Amino acid sequence: MESKSGHAGRGTAAGSAEGTSHFIRNIVAEDLKRGKNQGRVHTRFPPEPNGYLHIGHAKSICLNFGLAAEFGGLCNLRFDDTNPSKEDVEYVDSIKEDVRWLGFAWGEREFYASDYFERLYQFAIQLIKSDKAFVCDLNAEQIREYRGTLIEPGENSPFRCRAVEENLDLFQRMRGGEFPDGSRTLRAKIDMASPNINMRDPVMYRVLRATHHRAGDAWCIYPTYDFAHGQSDSIEGITHSICTLEFEDHRPLYDWFLDQLGIHHPQQIEFARLNLTHTVLSKRKLLQLVQQGYVTGWDDPRMPTLAGIRRRGYTPEAIRNFCERIGVAKRSSVVDIAMLEHCVREDLNKRAPRVMAVLRPIKVVLENYPDTKVEELDAVNNPEDPAMGTRKVPFSRVLYIEQDDFREEPPKGFFRLSPGKEVRLRYAYIIKCVGVERDPATGAIRELRCTYDPETKSGSSQSGRKVKATIHWVSAAHALEAEVRLYDHLFTKEDPDEVPAGGDWLMNINPNSLERLTSSRIEPYLANATVGAQYQFERLGYFCLDSEDSSPKKMIFNRSVTLRDTWAKIEKGGKGARAG
Ligand code: ATP
Ligand code: MG
Repeated sequence: MESKSGHAGRGTAAGSAEGTSHFIRNIVAEDLKRGKNQGRVHTRFPPEPNGYLHIGHAKSICLNFGLAAEFGGLCNLRFDDTNPSKEDVEYVDSIKEDVRWLGFAWGEREFYASDYFERLYQFAIQLIKSDKAFVCDLNAEQIREYRGTLIEPGENSPFRCRAVEENLDLFQRMRGGEFPDGSRTLRAKIDMASPNINMRDPVMYRVLRATHHRAGDAWCIYPTYDFAHGQSDSIEGITHSICTLEFEDHRPLYDWFLDQLGIHHPQQIEFARLNLTHTVLSKRKLLQLVQQGYVTGWDDPRMPTLAGIRRRGYTPEAIRNFCERIGVAKRSSVVDIAMLEHCVREDLNKRAPRVMAVLRPIKVVLENYPDTKVEELDAVNNPEDPAMGTRKVPFSRVLYIEQDDFREEPPKGFFRLSPGKEVRLRYAYIIKCVGVERDPATGAIRELRCTYDPETKSGSSQSGRKVKATIHWVSAAHALEAEVRLYDHLFTKEDPDEVPAGGDWLMNINPNSLERLTSSRIEPYLANATVGAQYQFERLGYFCLDSEDSSPKKMIFNRSVTLRDTWAKIEKGGKGARAG
């Protein structure tokens, strides 16, 4: 089990590279010290372009690009594009955009496994010639039957003893397009009795007529991921081939290919993939959410994709910091999503100017405030950063406040506005509620009648009067109308896969993950809001313009994260990562 305090401890250590280390960093440092690889450090990030990148990939990106940067090495971006039926340029483009956005550069080193198809083919020929590979006529189902199980050895394919010449001839004809899809494969000749199923004569090539997003129709045979991945690393001179734990059992196979071929042998190191509570991190499942319309697209702000969280308003700095804090370990664990939110909040707190916005407005009329008077009040842009200065906020007779900040019958401990009670308006005055006006037809509250105390203007301390609560507001005549979208986790359960027998993960989708408030009011300062800028709406959270749906005519804001820091509480309680 992952130690619970392990992650929490690292969390408090502040996520700078200097503060933390992990076993992969130690291996690389040690290799350098010993002069291994002639002092080179060369890593790669190898996505398959079959979906958008998610926050789990960010962990891998930060690790690979981060180590290269730290040790003066290089990191390649390589697309492992060996499966044309699932891959697409849309994904290639999105991956490049996302890696760049995270803050990493690959220079000229953008590679594609598909560019190695000819070399991989020659590697296959080499293995056939040394009688280490054979053409097999079993179909997929028969191959499965012959493979055996975890407790039973497999059986040799009846085609295993084909002569080298026949194999060469058949393999060339496979390439030449003589055989139908799925009718023949090229398989490595290893050991059908190996306790490691990956070693039981795995398939290296399959016949598949599919147009490749780069290679077009040049090929009708495609290498498997297992045959392409290690050789691609070798071709690129990768020194440390860092991958997630599920490839540990594939390592003996990758080693076998490299050794049989006698080519450069990168060192594979496995680490635990990132898992997050309330989140699925599998491209297959994310694709399903998109295709079945559970979300509006790969960049839906509720998605854990980099495109989604960018649109949501998360910053690359926050994500890099998060990836540093969660550390890198060999054992899998589940990170509390509150920790990610904590990192976002921490970053936005430093950079986001404060503004006032009222999400669910209720009208307030100040009976003793002159009808036509408008005051320009001074408001601080960011108490964390005096350099961000101040701005003017218009104040007038008719205002909006948050419905939540008024209670007609206040429960004990409610110190905000209620009939006969006072509250301070931020940057303005103390007001008192002197009446409630209702819609005669529905009985719903239409407006609050209030008075203000002119002696209590913020900054002029004549009155010295104190009230227990300060609330935000906007001037009705000056405020702009906007839509605000509030988000909650996409899955109600911490573990979306936790379902009763016969159920599936889609049952755990949160039906209330999106709330759209269509008549919010925002202070006029936000008229100049730009996509990519973040704002703290005082008392409500951090918000940004929606990059897709917002327009100058109808501004739409996404809430990136609330102000409530559940992670800080969790950390205090000594609970960091849950064991997975
Ligand atoms: P998924 O399981 O989400 O479909 P994948 O592993 O199939 O992802 P790849 O495109 O092969 O996706 O991933 C590229 C790199 O990112 C690989 O090295 C992979 O190990 C790593 N990676 C994928 N998911 C995670 C994760 N959750 N945490 C850390 N690294 C990950
Ligand atoms: Mg993969």
